[in-house]
Amino acid sequence: MRLLEGEGVFIDYLDGSAIADLDTDICIVGGGPAGLSIAYALADSHIDVCLLESGTWTGNRETQALCIGDSIGNIDLDPANARLRAFGGSVRLWGNGCALLTPLDFEARDWVPESGWPFDYDALLPYYERARELFGLESRALGRGNFVGTPKRTPPTFDAPEVINRFTASAAGDPSSLHRARLQRADNIRILLNATVVECVPSANGAAIERVTVQARDGRRSHVRARHVVLACGGIENARLLLLSDSVTPGGLGNGYDQVGRYFMDHPSGRLGRIVGGDLSRVTHPDDCLAVPGGTAVNSLPCLSDDVQRSRRVLNARVRAFPVEAEPAPGVAALRALRARRPSSPANDNLLIERRICEALDHRPATHTSGMTNDPAWRLALRSGLGAADLLHALARKLTDRSTIGPTHVELFGFFEQAPNAASRITLGRELDALGQRRVRVDWRITPLDLHTFHTAGWLFGDAMARVAGGRFEPDEWLHSKSDPTVLHGTAHHIGTTRMADSPHRGVVDRHCRVHGFDNLHVAGSSVFPTGGWAFPTFTIAALSLRLADRLRARLAAERGPVWDRGAGTAIDATGVPGWRT
Ligand SMILES: Cc1cc2nc3c(=O)[nH]c(=O)nc-3n(C[C@H](O)[C@H](O)[C@H](O)COP(=O)(O)OP(=O)(O)OC[C@H]3O[C@@H](n4cnc5c(N)ncnc54)[C@H](O)[C@@H]3O)c2cc1C
Repeated sequence: MRLLEGEGVFIDYLDGSAIADLDTDICIVGGGPAGLSIAYALADSHIDVCLLESGTWTGNRETQALCIGDSIGNIDLDPANARLRAFGGSVRLWGNGCALLTPLDFEARDWVPESGWPFDYDALLPYYERARELFGLESRALGRGNFVGTPKRTPPTFDAPEVINRFTASAAGDPSSLHRARLQRADNIRILLNATVVECVPSANGAAIERVTVQARDGRRSHVRARHVVLACGGIENARLLLLSDSVTPGGLGNGYDQVGRYFMDHPSGRLGRIVGGDLSRVTHPDDCLAVPGGTAVNSLPCLSDDVQRSRRVLNARVRAFPVEAEPAPGVAALRALRARRPSSPANDNLLIERRICEALDHRPATHTSGMTNDPAWRLALRSGLGAADLLHALARKLTDRSTIGPTHVELFGFFEQAPNAASRITLGRELDALGQRRVRVDWRITPLDLHTFHTAGWLFGDAMARVAGGRFEPDEWLHSKSDPTVLHGTAHHIGTTRMADSPHRGVVDRHCRVHGFDNLHVAGSSVFPTGGWAFPTFTIAALSLRLADRLRARLAAERGPVWDRGAGTAIDATGVPGWRT
């Protein structure tokens, strides 16, 4: 197989040469933040790592089509537009938001059925500390469930204890861009691109994975044999791959108690209403800085306090405030219309896929369109010249750290944790994808506790934000009448389909992320989260992956088998003791 030129460890599985079977110590399936965190942790060790990634450097139509599936639940979730199949994973499209779960998020809450992680916040803390490096956040200290630092903009001050500020950090980049060079330098890592795993095949007694079957888009197949296999394909695909792996074990792997795919959760988001009157910049300003490009700023997000979650028996939640602009003055409108004419980069597959996913997930209020879109450029230029006073006014606002156009009102969007629910699940549909695999079917459901949380948190956030602005909260009709939310959206945080539980009757992996009943099959990613908490998941995914990497390293050492050392052309055991020569 051909090494990609100048790319060291990267191998193109589609290059047309004979596809060989491979042997390795650890086979990681999936090159998103979960898989790459493990590869990163094991780079330059004596452990041979082979990472299989279905996509390539950029998204392309054929590979992305492997994500297509059905949505049959309470809330629509289009699996083709909620994740990206390319090296680096979905996080390539992210908003750079890194956040920690809180200690309460790990606890068994008596008002949240099936809540509670098998370990507490303090057990994950050392890995949160280490995970900072993966996102270029080494200089950011961690507090309890928070990043420490002074946000660029002053957070709102809430006058009641129900709503508090939590602090997140903007990553300097995602692991695939920040650490590609380190992976390239490591001589114990091979990364195969265009290599889709279609099955994990267990031994005849079903107790261990013997090999994984890899398929290229042109249909050619080969096998990778590994001491340990880690599934890191994302929150939907981890469950799908276990279900698809049914040639030896009917019903799929780790599914003896019908747990695989169950407890699917996201952070549903919906509009709560609007704030009118008062000084709206007091609630919108802190949010503006979430988009600081390339920086590692600390940002504040209003969330429910632990006390109010306990006393009102609700799940965790956060809120964001989006300003809705007034009609821009003619000079500003003309300049914006001119800017929109600037030639954009030529559309290609990758750009179209990325745009489609981002649009499908972006539900913030639209900014004002100018109504000048059909005017010729010369007329727009003339208008913006004549509107110089408008432009000066807008500039003055910007220089005093305000938005160029003042808002007429603010729209509030809630983002909610969900209660674990066995009926909310990922299953296989009947249709086949281009590789002959059954497509995924998403049955995403909400529970009465979810609804109770939407209503309670919706009012708490609305009232608290209105008091900060000195304005009034006008709830949307669903919140006012206590009915079901009119529109809810997913936020591409796919959680819970291979949940962690000490008993195989209650989950798919144990507290070490090992699939129950298998010695050498493990899962990385948010599919193992027992509950979703308030936070975006990727920072916790990375911390858990580093924890799993430590575990694998220790397991290989304890097994005392010879570990292939590619650099030396010998095998040594993981403690560093030379073993047999090949
Ligand atoms: C638009 C958008 C914005 C987001 N913003 C944020 C944010 O600000 N903060 C945050 O924390 N999270 C955010 N997320 C979520 C974040 O992207 C995910 O939490 C994260 O990418 C999950 O990492 P993962 O490695 O588990 O899965 P993925 O990123 O999905 O990576 C899985 C990888 O496995 C590959 N793969 C899948 N199946 C196979 C197979 N059978 N064989 C081989 N390879 C396979 C895929 O191609 C992919 O590269 C956002 C997501 C989107 C879509």
